[in-house]
Amino acid sequence: MKPETPFYITTPIYYPNAEPHLGHAYTTVFADILARYHRLIGDDTFYLTGTDEHGLKLQRAAEAKGVTPKEFVDSMVAIYRNFWGLLNISYNRFVRTTDEDHIKVVKYAAEVMYRKGLIYKGNYSGWYCVDCEKFYSASEYLMIDGRPHCPIHRKPLEWTEESTYYFRLSEFREYLLNLLKNKDIVYPKHFRQEVINKIVGQELLDISIARPKERVWWGIELPFDKNYTVYVWFDALLNYLTGINYLSDKERFRRYWSSTHHVIGKDILWFHTAVWFAMLKALDIDPPKKVLVHSFIINKGLKMGKSSGNAVRIEDLLGRYLSSDGVRYLIARIFNLGKDVEVSTSLLDSIYNSELADNLGNLIRRVGVLIKKKLKGTLSSESIDNTLTDKADTAVHKFNKLLGEEYEISTALQEVMGLLKEANAYINSVRPWELSDPSKELYTLMEVVKVAINLLYPVIPESVSKVAESFSIQLGNPLDISVDVGKEYVVKEAPILFKKVR
Ligand SMILES: [Zn+2]
Repeated sequence: MKPETPFYITTPIYYPNAEPHLGHAYTTVFADILARYHRLIGDDTFYLTGTDEHGLKLQRAAEAKGVTPKEFVDSMVAIYRNFWGLLNISYNRFVRTTDEDHIKVVKYAAEVMYRKGLIYKGNYSGWYCVDCEKFYSASEYLMIDGRPHCPIHRKPLEWTEESTYYFRLSEFREYLLNLLKNKDIVYPKHFRQEVINKIVGQELLDISIARPKERVWWGIELPFDKNYTVYVWFDALLNYLTGINYLSDKERFRRYWSSTHHVIGKDILWFHTAVWFAMLKALDIDPPKKVLVHSFIINKGLKMGKSSGNAVRIEDLLGRYLSSDGVRYLIARIFNLGKDVEVSTSLLDSIYNSELADNLGNLIRRVGVLIKKKLKGTLSSESIDNTLTDKADTAVHKFNKLLGEEYEISTALQEVMGLLKEANAYINSVRPWELSDPSKELYTLMEVVKVAINLLYPVIPESVSKVAESFSIQLGNPLDISVDVGKEYVVKEAPILFKKVR
């Protein structure tokens, strides 16, 4: 027996100061599709998501509500878990930075780096808002009458010095450049170049990893100085180690870590490459195998129910498209690693109606009804129409390459939709309802349906299971799926999968 290949996939852990919206779902659904796909092809898959629960913003949000930060994050985590349940997210662990094992990992990592001389005490100075208790950089603060002002309070900022601890990021310059240039980690490639340019173009500065406890007490205490808490970003990145038992099961950790795939948005590229790779090196851990970077959703003009600000609410999407599958499919279809995508209700509606309701939904319904009517629900044939089934085999090959090797879920789905379109055109041309024995034609169509739903399973698992059950189709490994002859199918019902939206 061939040993299972590990596949470890992560989302960023989210900052639970508000409920998740389409932006969070975008990353989480994409990672879920990859996780489900890798499980189907037989990989030993581990999918990690979670929440980033420390820091000043949450300390403040809790104070405003009159609860403790832990009570506040507990309530938010319940909301996150609920949404991921509604979207059928198949994570293996939901890691929280307040988890005991995570706190141990952070303290251990800080201790190791400190002992190696990679963390040292220093002063941090900058423009500070007393009300926010936060430093603002030149790109963040507002210039009013020639003085920096807080972007939130619009009050003048104060030049402040604070003692802190620094991580010696500057020491890793050569390591990072070598790594980025010689290893294909960051995908798509233009993001790798962006990081290289940033390292080359500016001095790689040491980076503050702690805040004085008197300012931020809601955080993990530095193991070597009780007067400081660990900065949230340092705390958060280490979740990827916690999730696969870094300290408690070395062998398990090594196994999954060798196949680490981080899915991130492009706004956190720097932290997940330069900073994270350096931290890992400081702990003698190899870099991740892949950092998959996606671009942004532009949601201007999207008016979908009660949207707060410009964030599209997940419950509004579920309300409009009626099922987790509908929303998952739409996210997968608009998903784009390299480019920003503009979404609008009319775009989502048109994809949903034409691809799910018409193309896929109608084909399933028509094939099911015809087999029930013309063949009393039992289908078999020794011959097949190769002109259509050859296209199915081609689609399998292309789909696996696009999703498995290039992470191009949207293009992969368009391959399946192209095949289904051919199948609908085939029905219209052979007109099985007029034939006395349409066994060959309907069998040909059934094989196309079988192939298509096997490929669609990671994206729309509930609908696919319903079709498989109704048509007695066996689901299997998408790499091995192919057109067969001489099988028997029993059609119990012809399900209506997706109702059109108007
Ligand atoms: Zn302020």
